[in-house]
Amino acid sequence: MPKAVGIDLGTTNSVIAVMEGGKPEVIVNAEGGRTTPSVVAYKGEERLVGQIAKRQAALNPKATLYEVKRFIGRRWDEVKEEAARSPFTVKEGPSGSVRIEVNGQDLAPEQVSAEVLRKLVADASAKVGTGIKDVVITVPAYFDNSQREATRQAGEIAGLNVLRVINEPTAAALAYGLERKGNETVLVFDLGGGTFDVTILELGEGVFEVRSTAGDTHLGGADFDHRIVDWLAGEFQKEHNFDLRKDPQALQRLIESAERAKIELSSATETTLSLPFITFDPETRTPLHLERTLSRAKFEELIGDLLKRVREPVQQALRDAKLSPNDINEVILVGGSTRVPSVKRIVKDIVGKEPNESVNPDEAVALGAAVQAGIITGDANLGDIVLVDVTPLTLGVEVKGGMVAPLITRNTTVPAKKTEVFTTAENNQPGVEINVVQGERPMTVDNKSLGRFKLEGIPPMPAGRPQIEVTFDIDANGILHVTAKEKSSGKESSIRIENTTTLDKSEVERMVREAEQNAAADKARREKIEKRNNLDSLRVQALQQIEESQAEQSLKDRVKAVTDEVEGAIAGDDDAQIADVQKRLEEALRELMQAGSGQDQGQGAQAQGKTQPDDVIDADFKPAD
Ligand code: AMP
Repeated sequence: MPKAVGIDLGTTNSVIAVMEGGKPEVIVNAEGGRTTPSVVAYKGEERLVGQIAKRQAALNPKATLYEVKRFIGRRWDEVKEEAARSPFTVKEGPSGSVRIEVNGQDLAPEQVSAEVLRKLVADASAKVGTGIKDVVITVPAYFDNSQREATRQAGEIAGLNVLRVINEPTAAALAYGLERKGNETVLVFDLGGGTFDVTILELGEGVFEVRSTAGDTHLGGADFDHRIVDWLAGEFQKEHNFDLRKDPQALQRLIESAERAKIELSSATETTLSLPFITFDPETRTPLHLERTLSRAKFEELIGDLLKRVREPVQQALRDAKLSPNDINEVILVGGSTRVPSVKRIVKDIVGKEPNESVNPDEAVALGAAVQAGIITGDANLGDIVLVDVTPLTLGVEVKGGMVAPLITRNTTVPAKKTEVFTTAENNQPGVEINVVQGERPMTVDNKSLGRFKLEGIPPMPAGRPQIEVTFDIDANGILHVTAKEKSSGKESSIRIENTTTLDKSEVERMVREAEQNAAADKARREKIEKRNNLDSLRVQALQQIEESQAEQSLKDRVKAVTDEVEGAIAGDDDAQIADVQKRLEEALRELMQAGSGQDQGQGAQAQGKTQPDDVIDADFKPAD
């Protein structure tokens, strides 16, 4: 039976895991990696995903997309600043949404994330030997409604059945708590590439209950990298009066080098950043180089204010859970950025406890997602595990004077349903517009509007008389559905909250079709390359046989003549010609092997068969060179 998997769709890296014999296990990708860079590159007709895309980023900065999770489900006005520092073009899309422009085409962030999901699942399907369709995808706990909905849509565009969207820290706690006995209060501190989450959970007897969650969806390791980039570019500008950040290729190299330096500083106290030929002097056209030493102390100074920002969400989560630091039994670190020594220090400082480092911060989230997939599909090995999660932000409606009337407050257990009655402000008001708002501030303008809808046809009545029941229903994914009903007339109107930044149904359908077509085109292209690689391997094998064989020269010449046709056939576009040359070369080679060494046909065929798996991998790598 096809298995359900768990996917950690990370800002920087993604991981996929599956339950095997009652335990979650990471599935390695086609390149043998346990994590896959969340990077998608567009090269001509082709899409490259993962390590292969990351490798060519500096050469193709305008069409290599990374950290796209920062834009998913966002409004343009929320991400302008991040967009400006991106080497690729991020711009405003329809209705204030975000689009990424690549080679003249506008892509929704969901479409780009779908490519990452597609690659993860395709590789995993090949590894486990069955087609995978059912997935649990994780999101930062602090993701709002549209970010969750957009993530779910990314799964849909990738042709997947998204069983559930779950919170990353909750998933990490599931992975951590699976083998723990007894009751514990755990604080999960999750600092990844682009987001920060803190979640407090009670674990005990198979129940994982989230008490509170808080965070910052604009804080992560990439911000640390950008501090180094700004410092490097600033130093360079002082010296050469040229801003490297304006050159996409130089910026991409700066970012990569900054990330490497940051990672080195997690174990070393000093590192050197060396970027030869970073640009040319605009006047003399001589090449300019950049070399700087960065100490850990300087790095800590550069990120000082970012580090301070983790303090408030931790304190808020403690307050919301009505706990003090002393009540926390374990602090679990998740996300690559928790490897930064000063991050560990600040966690210890806030909670007053040495963090537990028993879980692998890169893999815990995907492992927990696999456990959740197992729970949903009824994996018998898991027994009775109950997961109780919460909604991270308060949900309400706008009322007179631009105020918010909260219906479901933050840290309410999900699924949740709440109804409240509202009325009209004017006499004979024929309808009301319901503006659904998410956030903690009292005024609508300071929060995020998730969407608006109208309830019309209210019978004429004095102000204050109509009874309009508004119901908020949050499903287990944390996604909201809203209905409004006027009681006397029974008029009803509802929306599933798909605000303007998320895609509408027809767009998703179009993108699913496009993604399928792209996948088919990719497959055809790969097969074309594989056929040519196989033929080329056969040519190499034949040339070797010609050298080693004891057969007559005339037979060798005949085989050589066929190998001479290979190059032309490979260069051409004619698959029939490839098949013809392949067939003739196989026959000639078989003859040569029989004549020369007395080997039988079986061995010859085996030798050819053996070249194939290597070629498949080769073919995958070739387009990137
Ligand atoms: P994640 O989203 O959990 O994959 O975290 C990725 C972030 O962790 C990126 O910003 C990485 O640069 C960062 N990261 C990974 N390893 C380290 C390390 N050893 N030291 C510092 N940062 C790291």
